Amino acid sequence: MIKHYELAIIGAGPIGLIAAKIASDQNYQTLIIESRPHVGGQVTELYPKKEVEDLIGLPVILGEQYIELLMNDLTFNDHLELALNTEVTNLESNDTGVVIKTSNGDYTADNVIVATGLGVYKPRPLGVENEDKYQEILYALKDYDFLANKKVLVMGGGDSAIDWAKMVFYVSDDVSLIHRRKEFRGDLSTIENVKTIKIFTPYIPLQILTTAGHLSGLRVENVETKEQLDLPADYILVNYGNIPRGDTFGLEKHRLGIKVDENFLAAPHIYVAGDVASYEGKKKRIIPGMEELDSIFASLKKN
Ligand SMILES: Cc1cc2nc3c(=O)[nH]c(=O)nc-3n(C[C@H](O)[C@H](O)[C@H](O)COP(=O)(O)OP(=O)(O)OC[C@H]3O[C@@H](n4cnc5c(N)ncnc54)[C@H](O)[C@@H]3O)c2cc1C
Repeated sequence: MIKHYELAIIGAGPIGLIAAKIASDQNYQTLIIESRPHVGGQVTELYPKKEVEDLIGLPVILGEQYIELLMNDLTFNDHLELALNTEVTNLESNDTGVVIKTSNGDYTADNVIVATGLGVYKPRPLGVENEDKYQEILYALKDYDFLANKKVLVMGGGDSAIDWAKMVFYVSDDVSLIHRRKEFRGDLSTIENVKTIKIFTPYIPLQILTTAGHLSGLRVENVETKEQLDLPADYILVNYGNIPRGDTFGLEKHRLGIKVDENFLAAPHIYVAGDVASYEGKKKRIIPGMEELDSIFASLKKN
């Protein structure tokens, strides 16, 4: 028999976990469905040892500590269930609710909150020849200690790249941040006073440099002047974002996410929050995702 819930939350990243907390406080019988064997989404996968910025009201905290805090707030029982290793493949909404198709069978729910973030994704590569041959080129950082006193190049211009440069600076005084534009998308003011982080703009990567077969640096080129520089490196951290597979469960796509209306609805009974919710002015950060949830739970109460 298909099991029915008042609310199903798809994805157990930070937004799914926060949705679960609100749902359990408001007494919804809830199921969280997560495709991976663990919770935490991007925070667990991509930056468990980085500080999470912008969390109003919380002291500076590492990614893994933040997820632990969110999990400590949840009690799993008959009223709040978590299905790990279960990938949602399709959602069908009708007048009364939603049929949820998963890799482990079907569920139904009165309402669904989709919080699948990046969904299934792979990191955007550096784009230079043979980059897949070097273990010293990394796209996610589970830890920083191994970078102690190493020469590190951080590639990218978003907040996450800037955050990485700042975190690596705590263990190494040879950190460079390299971005292809003069302007950074992220907030550079957070490292403005950190004089030891060298910044190179507007530079693009050209070629991996090796010594005796081992990675020893990166040749970069100034996009405007075409000047080339050989930057020594022990590690290259690539933060060019991710390429999502773009699953939208049959819902309308918008940019790299799911199109929502002003109530964060994508279809009857299907709400969308967090990184996957797409609308004009969207900010892919935790606090904006929480604000979307506030609005979704207010709508659920009214209906
Ligand atoms: C390097 C880096 C640093 C960052 N630093 C900060 C920061 O300091 N402060 C900040 O506010 N934000 C930061 N962000 C952004 C922040 O992590 C995201 O905004 C946040 O993770 C979005 O949460 P989410 O729950 O919407 O999605 P995600 O974290 O992507 O979680 C989605 C979950 O859904 C699951 N899922 C996906 N598809 C399916 C499916 N089909 N079925 C079931 N489950 C599925 C995934 O496995 C995942 O667990 C950073 C991002 C990166 C990459």
